[in-house]
Amino acid sequence: MQGETEDQDEAMQIDGRPALRDPEDCAPYLGLQRGRIAVQALMSTFLDAGQMWAEEAATGRLLEGAYPHVQFRKFTTSEEARNGADWLWWWIDHTGTSFGMLVQAKILKRRGGGWHIDFGYRRRATQPTQVHRLFVTAEKFGVPAVYILYCGDRIYRAGLDCGSSVHPDGHCRERERAGVTILTAVVTDWLLPLAGATAAAKAFHESTPLEDIADPDRPQSFLRPLGKVSPEVSQFMLRPQDGARQVAKDLLEPVHRIRRSQFSAALLDRVESTDDALFHDLPADRGHFGVPYIPHILGGLRRTAPGYVENIILGRTPPAWVTDSVEGIVVIRLPR
Ligand SMILES: [Zn+2]
Repeated sequence: MQGETEDQDEAMQIDGRPALRDPEDCAPYLGLQRGRIAVQALMSTFLDAGQMWAEEAATGRLLEGAYPHVQFRKFTTSEEARNGADWLWWWIDHTGTSFGMLVQAKILKRRGGGWHIDFGYRRRATQPTQVHRLFVTAEKFGVPAVYILYCGDRIYRAGLDCGSSVHPDGHCRERERAGVTILTAVVTDWLLPLAGATAAAKAFHESTPLEDIADPDRPQSFLRPLGKVSPEVSQFMLRPQDGARQVAKDLLEPVHRIRRSQFSAALLDRVESTDDALFHDLPADRGHFGVPYIPHILGGLRRTAPGYVENIILGRTPPAWVTDSVEGIVVIRLPR
């Protein structure tokens, strides 16, 4: 099986990692790592057999592998009632601060000599695209729209060229842990007008290995605000964060980096948020993106998890407006 060596190498490197804290502190990280290794095995088996894996099967394997450090509840609502196969993920830390995100799974596909991810997919020509529907559902929950990308193994990605010259640690196609990555839809939506193959390779380049965003020891970037922001937001962007705030900051980082490369002045308008939002005064700047990107991403940060997440934790079924809108809910408790 072509992925076996890669998995073993990665597992050994992680086992030999000197700075690993108490395993309890790293539980969600280790869970997502196990899930990614399980997805990697699934993808490698399919590639070996000359076939492609399905998104649903990969998501099932990811959650199964990450359990019990990552909890999940799949809803059984009828297919017709449901809007899409998207999962709502909530990260909850020891302070109760929570971060939600609406996740859609996609496959990095090799097509001829190029690469493709069907972000603009629509079932019929008259229907809105899947990405449009993803943003509408994300808005309903007040959380960012996010993609999890299933990217095969390193042998599969060998011919990928993202076109970027910024690779301090080797080309991104050779990255470790990149079989399962994460990226906000703000970035993919911005990449969409590019030719298909370029958009897919660039999306891979900008994406982060999924387990990395749960690693409590990961390095953090210093995000210099573009315009005037409130003192709380400025502190959030400039200082190291932990728990749910750190996850939100990880998702904001690539968007902020791209925004800094766009030559347009930052809008100084502000956006008001909902009552339980962690930040109430966020800049409305959207740069060349389709939405004001800071409120879209940081809007997912709450002082406490919403009631429907409490329902899941207590073993109760959330209301129909929730179960009809998503495939299921993932709950990740971040230790101190
Ligand atoms: Zn790259």
